[in-house]
Amino acid sequence: MAIEDGISLIIPCYNEQEALPIFYKEVTKVLSGLNYEYELLFINDGSVDDTLKILKEIASSDEHAKYISFSRNFGKEAAMYAGFCNAKGKYVAVMDADMQDPPSLLPQMLEILESGEYDSVATRRVSRVGEPPIRSFFARQFYKIINKISDADIVDGARDFRLMKREMVDAIVKMTEYNRFSKGIFGWIGFRTYWLAYENQERVAGETKWHFWKLTKYAIEGIINFSQVPLSLASWFGLFMTLIAFLFVVFIVLRKLIFGDPVDGWASTICIITFIGGIQLFCMGIMGQYIAKTYAEVKRRPHYIVGESNLENPKSK
Ligand code: UDP
Ligand code: MG
Repeated sequence: MAIEDGISLIIPCYNEQEALPIFYKEVTKVLSGLNYEYELLFINDGSVDDTLKILKEIASSDEHAKYISFSRNFGKEAAMYAGFCNAKGKYVAVMDADMQDPPSLLPQMLEILESGEYDSVATRRVSRVGEPPIRSFFARQFYKIINKISDADIVDGARDFRLMKREMVDAIVKMTEYNRFSKGIFGWIGFRTYWLAYENQERVAGETKWHFWKLTKYAIEGIINFSQVPLSLASWFGLFMTLIAFLFVVFIVLRKLIFGDPVDGWASTICIITFIGGIQLFCMGIMGQYIAKTYAEVKRRPHYIVGESNLENPKSK
């Protein structure tokens, strides 16, 4: 069987020296039990530990293992995109290297796709056991907000782990935007998706690369990439403030006409000026975010740069 009829697994790896051998062993066990050709496409996202060395070792003894190594850390989104651009299989899945996406789910996911009713099988965690409560709280709020204000339908607890058909992968590759937010992209391109729920798994080894600040930035990224509501919020704010200002003017003019004393309330004037100044800066900030995104897009820089690879000719985008 050729790989074009088989399965490609995309595995973004950033400093995963502890988790990789465990993942490799497990995933090989699962995949070799299936009746499919497969490739493991590891993307080394500029790791500073022995990840690349381990990948080369694996690749030298297993022809299923391919790797693309970036020239520096470009982030998980870029790593996934590199995977999508270079995966050859008929079915393609993204998986984390830390076993939080259990390889044991693969046979079931494959079965659902083969039934022909769906184009992709996505996974979501039904619980957030083992996660700090404050992180869970903010994550929930994020999903609530983004679903209200954007047309990318994003499921709470959705993982990036999903198995897709070729058509869907081609659609993702065509989304060449520089600011990538895959959870939104998957929802935006549509297709019929089956949601598979499972219990949260803890990382087998190593440490998470997502700390609170990075996650917050990721959330803001998601909102700005898939919604223009913050922009119109700025205009509504502006309109509302203009109305209030107008009412103030009417009030002051009437007071002058009736009581004849226009000079009063220096303190309140200062309050109002700073308040309005604050709102103006805030709204300019929102616009600035969108302009910055536009700036990044028009530069058309590559999403990632390949340092080395055992693919014959790795595609760069
Ligand atoms: N990852 C990556 N580049 C990064 C950060 C993370 O390729 O800049 C990979 C990481 O190696 C792992 C996956 O993305 O395979 C998910 O990362 P992690 O487990 O740290 O995130 P969490 O599961 O805690 O959300
Ligand atoms: Mg993880």
